[in-house]
Amino acid sequence: MIVVMHRDATQEDIRRVEEYLTGMGFKTHPIYGQVKTVIGAVGDKSCLNKDLLSNLTGVEAIVSIMKPYKLVSREFKSEDTTVAVDDVVIGGRDLVIMAGPCAVENRHQLLEVAQRVKEAGAKILRGGAYKPRTSPYDFQGLELEGLKLLEEAKQATGLKVVTEVMDTRDVELISRYADILQIGARNMQNFRLLKEVGQGDKPVILKRGLAATIEEWLMAAEYIVSEGNGDVILCERGIRTYETAARNTMDINTIPIVKQYTHLPIIADPSHGTGNWKLVGPVSQGLIAAGADGLLIEVHPDPACALCDGAQSLQPHKFQQLMDELVPIARAVDRGLK
Ligand code: PEP
Ligand code: MN
Repeated sequence: MIVVMHRDATQEDIRRVEEYLTGMGFKTHPIYGQVKTVIGAVGDKSCLNKDLLSNLTGVEAIVSIMKPYKLVSREFKSEDTTVAVDDVVIGGRDLVIMAGPCAVENRHQLLEVAQRVKEAGAKILRGGAYKPRTSPYDFQGLELEGLKLLEEAKQATGLKVVTEVMDTRDVELISRYADILQIGARNMQNFRLLKEVGQGDKPVILKRGLAATIEEWLMAAEYIVSEGNGDVILCERGIRTYETAARNTMDINTIPIVKQYTHLPIIADPSHGTGNWKLVGPVSQGLIAAGADGLLIEVHPDPACALCDGAQSLQPHKFQQLMDELVPIARAVDRGLK
């Protein structure tokens, strides 16, 4: 539910409305606009006295949100949300490209890739230190050592860093090293983990689950935002379908649909979406044209020897080429790049 306050409502009026709502068991989320304040209220409406609420001084209207997700809905907030990591802003006019290896493997690999993606125009370095692998016998990530290498690469290049968190027990440690936490596709509905990152202060990239509907995905985002962390960036990374020609089916429809349903920014990951480095370029172009706010791309100095996802990783010079190719596409949809 949204309580719309009159343009001349005072701070005291707003405080009284919030007090009433919290007294009735609602969680309140005020948004102070230029002209008006609206108060998002999430809770059980069955015992609410609507007449009493609408008669409180300063209340202009009470609007129900029919969608199951509330705080992330466009109805709740019509302007686009931007997520800032210092001077890097995701969801604004400029596209933000995040790139790096699937997994942090060693110092040389990471520093080399970091330097090269920075030169090509990426603003954020990606790299997994804790890897969600299908087989327990595959490389699981360097863990703390990987986090330290990410920090070193960040110091060396000035890039911001995003890395995956898979377990509630690691949130605090990873938050000390990362600028952005990534929740991977396999954990999109790990509700304890969503709540944990929701109570933190690091921006979160929330990937779409392998077989999640858009509604389920937005409900997962609602878990994070309702805990108090509004800095959520959605990431489409392809879904499971009957098609086997590519690792996943990149759901480009999602981009404009999500823009309609939510105010949160959305980026896309054409590397996992396709599983094939040859497809990453053309699909990236489509994603930008469809309105994605940025891309998450895997880059490796020697894909043939990568410990994880080599087949979908671009060599640094190919990444550079892709960045150049994206410039006219970005311009065509009135977005900035580099
Ligand atoms: C990744 O980004 O390295 C990753 C594991 O992605 P996803 O969760 O989308 O499979
Ligand atoms: Mn990967």
